[in-house]
Amino acid sequence: MSDTQNAQRAPDAARASCILALANQKGGVGKTTTAINLAAGLAEHGLSVLLIDLDPQGNASTGLGIGYDARRQGTYALLMDDVPMADLSQDTEIPGLRIVAADTELAGAELELVMADRREFRLRDALSRAGSGFDVILIDCPPSLGLLTLNALVASDGVIVPLQCEFFALEGISQLVRTVDRVRRAFNSDLHVAGIVLTMYDRRNNLSELVAADARSFFGEQVMETLIPRNIRISEAQSHGRSVMAYDSRSSGAMAYQALADEVIARNSLKTPGKKKARA
Ligand code: ADP
Ligand code: MG
Repeated sequence: MSDTQNAQRAPDAARASCILALANQKGGVGKTTTAINLAAGLAEHGLSVLLIDLDPQGNASTGLGIGYDARRQGTYALLMDDVPMADLSQDTEIPGLRIVAADTELAGAELELVMADRREFRLRDALSRAGSGFDVILIDCPPSLGLLTLNALVASDGVIVPLQCEFFALEGISQLVRTVDRVRRAFNSDLHVAGIVLTMYDRRNNLSELVAADARSFFGEQVMETLIPRNIRISEAQSHGRSVMAYDSRSSGAMAYQALADEVIARNSLKTPGKKKARA
């Protein structure tokens, strides 16, 4: 990576007001869960939100009720072909939330990108070309620091890092923070850590408290105030293809993700038109 590559940047006139990647190279830490429920929480505030499923596993797509049968062209076409966004994004059950689903070809994208022209900028270019029309774009990354995640980091204003409250959680995160620094220097001077979110917090478990305290002493203000508790309603909701707010609005998980949406709005100075009554 070198600074000369900055010159390759495409004009960004049509970017969304805020693009945030959910990234952590560890799997199972709550990236997808946070992407889905944060997106839903932001949409409930009346923001128009796009979720891009950049993980070939497609859990964000399934978790929002878009099964394999319902998927048309999605993220692969966005990265590799010149398909307009209008043809790629689809409605979800949540008003104000659209998704670009993970299509089956996405599994091959990591390899194909190696040979592609402007390989680190494919997503950024596509989002600039597509025009935004969205207030917020969230990108759910795969569990690796390969070219797919790199594309997300180059296209984003900020990174939200879900951190699972368990042993070794902090080990991987310094590698991620170093990657964010390198991407900022080489490709995207705007990029910053928009927040570290502590997930699957279990108040009955001392380890959760220790990890949370360690994270706060090490990363300070970068750690979001909102703690996401371990709550079975969160994973149940996902298996029903719904946000936890839609599934059980009184659960601790729903309240936590609503609070996280409030905090993301405040931290990123997002302008909300006022809260929508999105739930039945
Ligand atoms: P990642 O996208 O980082 O791989 P996921 O969001 O898919 O991680 O979460 C991994 C698993 O943990 C999923 O089965 C999900 O339903 C579950 N899970 C995530 N967050 C919570 C939580 N706060 N409480 C209970 N289960 C959770
Ligand atoms: Mg995931």
